[in-house]
Parts: sequence; structure tokens; C-alpha cells
Amino acid sequence: MGYNKACICLSLIMITPKIIVALDYPDAKSALKFANQVSPELCALKIGKELFTSTGPQLVEQLVRQNFKIFLDLKYYDIPNTVAKACRAAANLGVWMLNVHAMGGERMLVAARESIDSMAGEKPLLIAVTILTSFEASELLKVGITGSIQENVLRLAKLSLQTGLDGVVCSAREIVIIRKTCGKHFSLVTPGIRPFNYQTQDDQRRIMTPEEAVAAGTDYLVIGRPVTQTVDPVQTLITINQTIN
Ligand code: C5P
Repeated sequence: MGYNKACICLSLIMITPKIIVALDYPDAKSALKFANQVSPELCALKIGKELFTSTGPQLVEQLVRQNFKIFLDLKYYDIPNTVAKACRAAANLGVWMLNVHAMGGERMLVAARESIDSMAGEKPLLIAVTILTSFEASELLKVGITGSIQENVLRLAKLSLQTGLDGVVCSAREIVIIRKTCGKHFSLVTPGIRPFNYQTQDDQRRIMTPEEAVAAGTDYLVIGRPVTQTVDPVQTLITINQTIN
């Protein structure tokens, strides 16, 4: 292998893609149909509640074996002991990233951190969800949370940083303020991404285009329906990748 080709291969191995495609499919067959058309250099893959509940951990392990970086998006929110054990079980599947709800509180976050830290070998990124990107201000109050979305997101991001988490899930609209407060090494993962030519916001509320989110300083874009529900998901993904590079 020539020097240049070796360098390109090396950089492909080392660089984590910026786009995480949400595999929000009902079954393994549909998820694998998409995964088998893309490469681990083009995108990481997110397995969430729908797919995990229908397929179980086997699909996670299969995609890990295919060298995809897997974000297991199960948003754990329970008593500290339960969450700590769930995090350990998820890490044992070989996932690259997993998450918990910051609203689970300080002791739960610390327990999650400690359970990952006590493991040998490569550790997954442990990320906390702040306020779901589907929330708007009026809905916060209805569940008893006062203050603006931004205040709450920032408070939860600070708590996540203080308890040693690697970053947070937040809307792209909150990137600048979190980055300023939590620093450049704190990973920001942003769903609620809607490309300019994708006409619907679906159930998301705090949205941004991929280009805007990257300009604001996100580390990872989580994109589901704007890729998976298009006529040609692979071409859509390639196009979005080009617009942000
Ligand atoms: O289809 P869409 O691009 O809206 O998908 C976004 C994905 O990100 C979904 O799988 C959703 O569960 C997830 N997510 C989110 N907001 C969060 C955390 C995760 O939308 N705060």
C-alpha cells in the first residue's frame, strides 16, 4: 500500500464521523438494509428505544462487529444502582456512546460515571440528555419545571460536567451557551436537525439546519427522519455530509 493510501486509511480509521444516523426503524431487517449501504466512515449509527426493544442487543453487537460506532440511545433514568448496572451492560456490548437523563440527578450521574470508570479497556462516551429537543417552553411548565428552556439546559449541562460526564445531548440552539460554560472538551450531541430542503419539523421543536449546527460548534449531529424517510437515504446522507464539510 502506498504512503498516501495508507495515510488516508489511517485518517479514516481515526476520524469519527460527525453525523449519527438515528436508526429509528421497526425491525432489524430495515435497519440492516440501511447500514449495509453505508460505511462506518460516513456515519455513526444510533439505536434507540424502538429498534432496541424489537431486536434486543444482538443487532447492536452485529453492527459493532461491522465496525460502526454505535450510540445506544436508551436515555436511562432510574435509581442510581439500576442505572449504573444498565450502563455497564450497555458498555459491555461494545457501544461507542450511551446516555442517561441528567434529570436523574447528581447521585445517579455519579453512579453511572463510576460504573463505566470501573471497567477495563476502552470506555464508551457517557452523555446526559438535558431537555428533549421536542420540548418547548410551555410544556416545561406543565411538567412542573420553571425557568426558561435555556436556563434548565444550562443547569443540567453544568451538573453533567461536574459529575464527570463526557458531554450532553442538547438542541443546536443551546450549543453556544453550553460551549462557553462547559468548555471545548465537553461533547455536544445535537438532534432536532432539519436540513433546509426538508419541509417538516415533525415532533421536534428546537431545530436547526446541519450547517448552522456545525457553525455553532456541535460535535455530533443526530439525524433521523430527514435521512431515513427520504426516497434515497444514502444519497441524502452523502449530500448532508458534503454540505457540512
Ligand atoms: O427523526 P429525527 O431527526 O427527529 O430523530 C432524532 C432522534 O434523536 C430520535 O431518535 C430521538 O429519539 C433522538 N433524540 C432527540 N432528542 C433528544 C435525544 C434524542 O430527538 N434530546
